[in-house]
Amino acid sequence: MILVNPHSGKGQALGLFTSHIQRMLNETRMSYTLVITERQNHAREMVREVDLSQWDALVIISGDGLLFEVVNGLMEREDWEEAIQTPLGILPGGSGNALAASIHHYSGAQPVSSEELLVSCGFLLCKGLVSHMDLVSVHLSTGPTRLFSFLSVAWGFVADVDIESEKYRCVGAARFTLGTLVRLASLRVYRGRLAYLPADEAEEDDRPVRSSSEREKELPRNQPPPPSFRPSDLRRASVDSFCLNSFRNSCNSNNGIRVKKLETVPPNATQKGPPDSLLVPLDQPVPSNWVVVPEEDFVLMLAVYQSHLSEDLYAAPEATLNDGVIHLLYVRAGISRAALLRLFLAMGKGTHLDNNCPHLVYARVRALRLEPFSPKGVITVDGEVVEYGPLQAQVHKGLAKLIAR
Ligand code: ADP
Ligand code: MG
Repeated sequence: MILVNPHSGKGQALGLFTSHIQRMLNETRMSYTLVITERQNHAREMVREVDLSQWDALVIISGDGLLFEVVNGLMEREDWEEAIQTPLGILPGGSGNALAASIHHYSGAQPVSSEELLVSCGFLLCKGLVSHMDLVSVHLSTGPTRLFSFLSVAWGFVADVDIESEKYRCVGAARFTLGTLVRLASLRVYRGRLAYLPADEAEEDDRPVRSSSEREKELPRNQPPPPSFRPSDLRRASVDSFCLNSFRNSCNSNNGIRVKKLETVPPNATQKGPPDSLLVPLDQPVPSNWVVVPEEDFVLMLAVYQSHLSEDLYAAPEATLNDGVIHLLYVRAGISRAALLRLFLAMGKGTHLDNNCPHLVYARVRALRLEPFSPKGVITVDGEVVEYGPLQAQVHKGLAKLIAR
């Protein structure tokens, strides 16, 4: 199943599919059904209900936001443990194509952008080799459910840029560069408390790592481990299901900026997914083996688990798809505009950690907690706005599967 968000990026995802991807899929004789989403959360609701035995893979052509819907739809199912084994695929058709840029990077190819990135990801999809991908479960203070995230949690500068730059959507991926320059002009400090569990500190027993043999043991006996996705095996559905409706979107206004607020607790969702063994309830102090960051004034906090935050932000050079690590970056208050600009320019090349910037701190962690004190602000999970307030998160190594090699 290929899911398209017709409004992502410059609104050209469907055109990009027909001009670049359709022929590649035809050449591999891969058959598919194209589903065009009608509204936000359409894909999430559909994936929650769909008979997954009918599909070898769920592929999205959009930005990261549509994959976020698919991942969370799968994790909201009663059969989440099996459902999340469905191979996922991503083709960049949005303005924030972080995961697509990351899988292109992991493939060892030279950096490319826009349509070349699309063709590269189309090629990876046609190869159909499946890898494990880490997911991070994110608890917000509101609501009983968790979110599952494959990319990032951001607060402060990066989250503000992501959301404010929505209005520059028409320039595509360059919206983040433009947004960064605008935000630099009105640089602000965000107050809060940050704590984390260093990757080295996590006890072997507590690590959210399960070997593949353990995972296989947990599958029902008559169910073989999920096979690799083989395009040549597919002979089934034909192209159909073109459904386009009016653009119905829940938008509200925030200082003149159009902000789409995510439904964090969808109706009929109950707690699903693996237990978060590294976390204690948000109203209790963090465990003693956690590090509480001494500073309380920040310019940004960014927890990222893929190499790229956008096509041209190479935020975590060490990150891989399945390293079981949250790469935590934060910038302390006091940094000058010029130094912050240098930092972002260096991030374009992935050299920001080599520059000895005294305000930038980097840590490899397995879990974190953020308690913002500033009364107003923006927090994003995978680039989507979530309820502003305390949150905590822990990584689950290799919980999902992605076509990416
Ligand atoms: P972009 O990278 O351009 O932001 P995304 O894939 O992230 O593209 O999508 C942006 C937002 O649109 C996400 O919040 C997603 O849930 C939402 N969305 C998905 N399908 C639709 C649709 N048909 N109409 C409106 N919004 C949608
Ligand atoms: Mg997006």
